[in-house]
Amino acid sequence: MTAPIVIVGAGQAAASFISRHVALASPQPVLLIGEEPHPPYQRPPLSKKYLLGELERERLFIRPLQWYGEQNIGLRFDTRVDAIEPDHHRVLTGSGESIEYDKLLLCTGSSARRLPDSIGGSLDGVFTLRSIADIDHVAPQFQAGRKLLIVGGGYIGLEAAAVARKLGLEVTLLEMAERILQRVAAPETSDFFRDLHQGHGVQIHESTRLARLLGEGAKLRGAELESGAIIEADLVLVGIGASPNIKLAQNADRIAKTVFTSTRFARHRIRISTRPVTAAALIAMVKLFAWNQYKTPPIRVIWWHVALRAKMCATRRCRGSGQTSTTASCKLSDSTRGTITLWSAPAPMTPVDRSGITAMTNCSPSTR
Ligand SMILES: Cc1cc2nc3c(=O)[nH]c(=O)nc-3n(C[C@H](O)[C@H](O)[C@H](O)COP(=O)(O)OP(=O)(O)OC[C@H]3O[C@@H](n4cnc5c(N)ncnc54)[C@H](O)[C@@H]3O)c2cc1C
Repeated sequence: MTAPIVIVGAGQAAASFISRHVALASPQPVLLIGEEPHPPYQRPPLSKKYLLGELERERLFIRPLQWYGEQNIGLRFDTRVDAIEPDHHRVLTGSGESIEYDKLLLCTGSSARRLPDSIGGSLDGVFTLRSIADIDHVAPQFQAGRKLLIVGGGYIGLEAAAVARKLGLEVTLLEMAERILQRVAAPETSDFFRDLHQGHGVQIHESTRLARLLGEGAKLRGAELESGAIIEADLVLVGIGASPNIKLAQNADRIAKTVFTSTRFARHRIRISTRPVTAAALIAMVKLFAWNQYKTPPIRVIWWHVALRAKMCATRRCRGSGQTSTTASCKLSDSTRGTITLWSAPAPMTPVDRSGITAMTNCSPSTR
């Protein structure tokens, strides 16, 4: 029996690849492996309606579970892939199981950045918003009158602030940059959302750095700022961005020398391995950046749309047909009553090397 196309990571990118694969009536079997216990779901509603309790979990799922069975897509959830063995065309799971692949698609996405333990990052009451599990854990704690401190004035911090105010929490938000949304939006946009949130009672402190979180034993009590000021808090949301999950690819020997070769964006290169590649099967790494055209130099932003567009490139690579790059432009929306729409400059997605593996990770490890 032919080994399947194995997809590691059951997120938006994986779902979009599978949809495309099914639409093309590709005969090759597919096995989807994800470490979360759910089929692929949309993350954008997590920090909005799902946190607010206005959206049922089933509505998050991109396809109902039975759809995958109907399309003959193999599923393995609650399963983490820990290693790739390119020589043997197989992956190893956390439980030590070995799974063979014909082609391997890495859709491992990103993880929320956390505060280090040394400044209180692991105290009870400190959380991030990335997964269904995160929201299910924190939503019951969003109770009227409680004090929520949000570290980070980006999209997720502001969306959570809007939800928390609606539920009656007292919300303070810290942003170390001069203005909220500085990384992704023009000053006028920051002004608009600052006014909007302040009008709803969010205390916003810009140009303000956290020194450490304070606890009594393991329990969160508040935060100390670099200025020495103390802010009381029952809950702390850390919304300081996401890091790409590229460890798996980095740890695999002989995957690719250099993933991204674009000289224009040379400083965004990811180096995977310096060892040579055996070109036994088709392989590509896909460059998936969306560049915010309002920024000089342009910066990376992580948008679901990029994950969707990537499928075109990845399916072509897995089918062995020629075209290896595509472009993306993205639309992004925000919560509260305002909407942000930014169109990125088209981003080249450059597959680079050959060795049997395709990556659909829509972020770079260091971009600034
Ligand atoms: C709260 C929130 C709100 C957002 N709001 C917006 C928005 O309004 N607009 C917008 O454009 N974008 C938004 N985004 C970003 C958008 O959700 C992401 O761009 C999109 O989810 C990327 O999809 P992905 O499939 O590449 O990665 P992910 O969604 O991160 O999925 C990757 C999956 O791979 C799994 N995985 C990782 N490593 C392994 C492994 N070794 N073995 C097995 N499984 C593994 C992970 O557990 C995860 O389930 C938001 C994100 C969050 C978290």
